Amino acid sequence: MSGIFNFCAGPAMLPHEVMIKAQQEFINWQDTGCSVMELSHRSKEFVALASQAEADLRQLLNIPENYKVLFCHGGGRGQFSAVPLNLLSKGKSADYIVSGSWSKAAAKEAAQYGDINILDITQEHTDSKSVLAPQDWQLNKAAAYVHFCPNETVDGIEIFDLPETHGVPIVADMSSTILSHEIDVTKFGLIYAGAQKNIGPSGLTLVIVREDLLGNAAKGTPAIMNYRLLAENDSMYNTPPTYAWYLAGLVFKWLKGIGGVAEIAKRNQAKAQLLYQYIDNSGFYYNNVVVEQRSLMNVPFWLQDESLNARFLAQAEQQGLLALKGHRMVGGMRASIYNAMPIEGVKALVAFMDKFAAEQS
Ligand code: PMP
Repeated sequence: MSGIFNFCAGPAMLPHEVMIKAQQEFINWQDTGCSVMELSHRSKEFVALASQAEADLRQLLNIPENYKVLFCHGGGRGQFSAVPLNLLSKGKSADYIVSGSWSKAAAKEAAQYGDINILDITQEHTDSKSVLAPQDWQLNKAAAYVHFCPNETVDGIEIFDLPETHGVPIVADMSSTILSHEIDVTKFGLIYAGAQKNIGPSGLTLVIVREDLLGNAAKGTPAIMNYRLLAENDSMYNTPPTYAWYLAGLVFKWLKGIGGVAEIAKRNQAKAQLLYQYIDNSGFYYNNVVVEQRSLMNVPFWLQDESLNARFLAQAEQQGLLALKGHRMVGGMRASIYNAMPIEGVKALVAFMDKFAAEQS
């Protein structure tokens, strides 16, 4: 590695080993004489690759037989539309938990398609913010589903528990947390995630959906968003994002190789702890999320003296610490430390932050 660490929230860095492997295979994949991206999605070689990637993902997340895994187009926002189109049956409403900017956007999109009930769980305190814990969500027992976002990429808030829904399916936007720690898939009706953080490059979106939720798409649902149609066609109703699927497969192999989700979860804990601990003790930087709800993937932080922001970013970039600028809606800084970010990257960031702070005094 070149000593450059990319803290972008997405598209995010991919594991170095994966990039090297992709480079080696770029123009001649498995002696086909072609790049993977030049192969038909219906060729036996690609079909084998595709099902191996699915099998590896199933193993990593322990996905039961009665769940379909769909490899879709359209990103997280595509699913903001696809979920209500497929699951919000006539005469029912859906609960949308709003914990930050992405869940708010999901609710806004869903409202175009049906009756939705918004539960704003955000809480602002004098110098911190939090969200209501799942046991305090006032859920509708007759809802078609409850939608929430376990990790708010912009706000840096993570919800680690699940609500008791008495059978109402839980739908989770896991775009920025999937594969970062173990989950019990059986507790969910549907999980979706844009690939560009913990899975692979942008252009691919994963949907993991319980079989009994298929087959109720609203009239007018675009065919390429119809879960049942996608499932019946092994996600090849139309041409899937083949190269992104291939790269996702390499990422799954890499993750299995290092010990799977349990191992990466330990590493992610260690990385986040290092960074938050430094921020909290620095007196120079701060994070505004209550400790127990801090995201392990996206760490927003601010300089006490915001007039130093531009200098901080310029010097960080000179040091090879890239894409630390905070989201335009919240300002400040944000370090995204997804699965592919090694602890060395976080150590380099902390060392730089410390040096920068010392130089300003
Ligand atoms: N949900 C979450 C939690 C996200 O972080 C993002 C993108 N950062 C999206 C949805 C939207 O994803 P996309 O840009 O792939 O539509």
